[in-house]
Amino acid sequence: MQHIRNFIGGEFKEPASGLWIEKINPATGHTSGSIPDSDQRDVELAVASARDALSRWSETSPQERFLILERIARLIQERNEDLALAETNDTGKPLALSSNVEIPRAASNFRFFATAAMQFSSESHAMPDSINFTLRQPIGIVGCISPWNLPLYLFSWKVAPALAAGNCVVAKPSELSPTTAYLLGEICQEAGLPTGVLNIVHGLGLKTGEAIVRHPDIKAISFTGGTQTGKTISSITGPMFKKTSLELGGKNPCLVFEDCDFDKTVSEVARLAFSNQGQICLCGSRILVQRSIYERFRDALVQKAEKLRIGDPLDEHTQFGSLISEAHLKKVMGYIDLARQEGGICLTGGEIFRPEGRCKNGFFLRPTIFEGLGPSCRVNQEEVFGPVITLQVFEDETEALALANDSPYGLAATLWTRDLSRAHRVANKIQTGIVWVNCWLNRDLRTPFGGVRQSGVGREGGWEAMKFFTEPKNVCIQYSK
Ligand code: NAD
Repeated sequence: MQHIRNFIGGEFKEPASGLWIEKINPATGHTSGSIPDSDQRDVELAVASARDALSRWSETSPQERFLILERIARLIQERNEDLALAETNDTGKPLALSSNVEIPRAASNFRFFATAAMQFSSESHAMPDSINFTLRQPIGIVGCISPWNLPLYLFSWKVAPALAAGNCVVAKPSELSPTTAYLLGEICQEAGLPTGVLNIVHGLGLKTGEAIVRHPDIKAISFTGGTQTGKTISSITGPMFKKTSLELGGKNPCLVFEDCDFDKTVSEVARLAFSNQGQICLCGSRILVQRSIYERFRDALVQKAEKLRIGDPLDEHTQFGSLISEAHLKKVMGYIDLARQEGGICLTGGEIFRPEGRCKNGFFLRPTIFEGLGPSCRVNQEEVFGPVITLQVFEDETEALALANDSPYGLAATLWTRDLSRAHRVANKIQTGIVWVNCWLNRDLRTPFGGVRQSGVGREGGWEAMKFFTEPKNVCIQYSK
């Protein structure tokens, strides 16, 4: 049983309300601990300690910030085992995914932005008689709010650049996956991060999250989560003129052309569809396949999906764990019912999976593939955020592009083709913030990350993140007349 507390002013604190929220392990369905049901008073306390820490932290040298963030990265690496276990127990994702990908990536995020603190530079623009130089100053106190699907990975993706740029942070992880953020508090203590520089407040979105978003002293909000939540947040931050970055949902197209490397594409499409049980914003969910290879590809993909080892996420052989919660399982099952009502043919999955033993009450669903649903069906327009994909057929490049762009979202697309010219043409015309050709989730942390349309506003990653978390101030000096 884990009793999680807020991390405020360098100390672990109980919530002002004295109220707690039950935490469930989704792979077993059992209570695994509790988290603070924080409210505005806890956020107020976090802001006050951030305020106390701000003037010193914002004036530390880049080298000092580098050293502390680098120590945090090292400690995350050293504690990989307990962090990975916590991540898996909170989310039901396979332990191998937590320990080989997600926790190492959280360490990389801190290391990457530690070095960014050292390398960050600003511009100057010379005029015949004057010179402009642009200062990039920390914003002040910033709010970071993250979702449950890649907990520490996405939490650190925001917190690390915010700290590297010299801000103090009030952050909230998802109430469904709070443990690794809690452990990060311990790591920050050990790494010598000055008290009050990072404050982690746990609780519900509507209460704790909104208190962060509404606080007048929190000058910027970096949010990753659902599109509907993003709309609510921007309706609050807009009139307050708060700098806001929104990384939201997706309905990502995957375009499989007849000239693709067939075997590699089948394996990679299975991976991009079902990794983390389809609960990654970058997962492909609309699989568009050229008619000449459609049936062969469909059958091979179904076979791959059926071979995925589903079960106890702590078993080292498991490739496919549980969904995040009972409520989410119901939501995803609702989309499966809808797909059937809309005329879809379920090729595999479509039903709950009941493992034996420890996980018999967990929230498992088999990988699910539908065909026969047109582009305007709700299942092809709305984000399911689970292991449910659809297959659609296209004749040629023009139709593939039309289908791919027929979406309110625009986060990421993948193209599978050996024709380099086609790859360039389609990548140019596809309306998403990220395009992968013959690969998926191949991430370089320097590149801009984010989407268009209902997938969000703004970009994270590399200099984009450092720019988001700083305020530019141009200074113009005239030196001759
Ligand atoms: P969510 O929007 O329900 O919650 C995200 C976070 O916001 C949580 O910490 C939650 O407590 C908080 N929150 C909820 N309501 C709030 C409010 N009114 N004010 C302030 N905070 C609030 O999303 P989720 O279910 O946790 O995550 C799944 C969603 O996240 C999916 O739509 C997925 O596509 C998206 N996502 C996007 C990206 C990306 O980079 N674009 C990455 C991961 C997940």
